[in-house]
Amino acid sequence: MKFTYIQGTSIEQYNEIETGFIKHVVFDFDGTISLIRDGWQNVMVPMMIEFLQTETDTKESQEELESIVVEFVDRLTGKQTIYQMMQLAEEIEKRGGKPQDPLSYKDEYNNRLLPIVEKRISDLADGKITPDTLRVPNSFEFLKKLYEMDIQCYLASGTDVEFVKNEANLLGVSDFLNGGIYGALREYKKFSKEMVIQKILNDFNLSGNELLIIGDGYVEIQNAKAVNAIAVGVASVEDNIYNMNADKRERLIRVGADIIIDDFREGDELTRFLFNS
Ligand SMILES: [Mg+2]
Repeated sequence: MKFTYIQGTSIEQYNEIETGFIKHVVFDFDGTISLIRDGWQNVMVPMMIEFLQTETDTKESQEELESIVVEFVDRLTGKQTIYQMMQLAEEIEKRGGKPQDPLSYKDEYNNRLLPIVEKRISDLADGKITPDTLRVPNSFEFLKKLYEMDIQCYLASGTDVEFVKNEANLLGVSDFLNGGIYGALREYKKFSKEMVIQKILNDFNLSGNELLIIGDGYVEIQNAKAVNAIAVGVASVEDNIYNMNADKRERLIRVGADIIIDDFREGDELTRFLFNS
């Protein structure tokens, strides 16, 4: 895909956009701001393979199951976690198994991820690591800058809202998110990133160029483009052993990202461009 660099930067621009009008910014959380849950795929994928092996009589090999699981986990990333678990239940059913409630798979996943998350949080509390190491580079500085510019910032995450609120606090970014922090709910039909975006558009009667969406998942980029909002894709590198980063950037571009960044190291240049400031 053709792009130009925003002058004097390594920020890639793929579409012409009308800059200078943005008043509201919706951020994704994991992989966009936070690295607290980095490596979650390394927990989710093996768990799903295990359930496929124990809850069905499948003759498929470990490798075959892995490639099936990796495909749908990757495809459903960005939506609420429950959708990945619903797909797992479907795969179990397809193989003649009798799946549990997807919510119990999700609970089990959260239980398995918890020690990793808690270790990072306690290392942070003990001063063994600094918040910087758990944030996408310069995301804190970028959020702070927008906050000081009086831009309304929001979080919308597919991770459970209680976790997101707690982790945003730990990373020191909660105060900048003056528009609110939204995340997955047990009643999953009551939340989606699309719903958050729609509510902001309605509440403030915005046109597309007044709203900016920033995320590393193609779901939020797709949601942004569906309402003509400006979309910045974050092609951040996540730690997973399944090579899911390989086409992350291409996918963000394919679904219509206007701009691609690796992280926020050129955040000042990005704000200057987007806000004509
Ligand atoms: Mg993300």
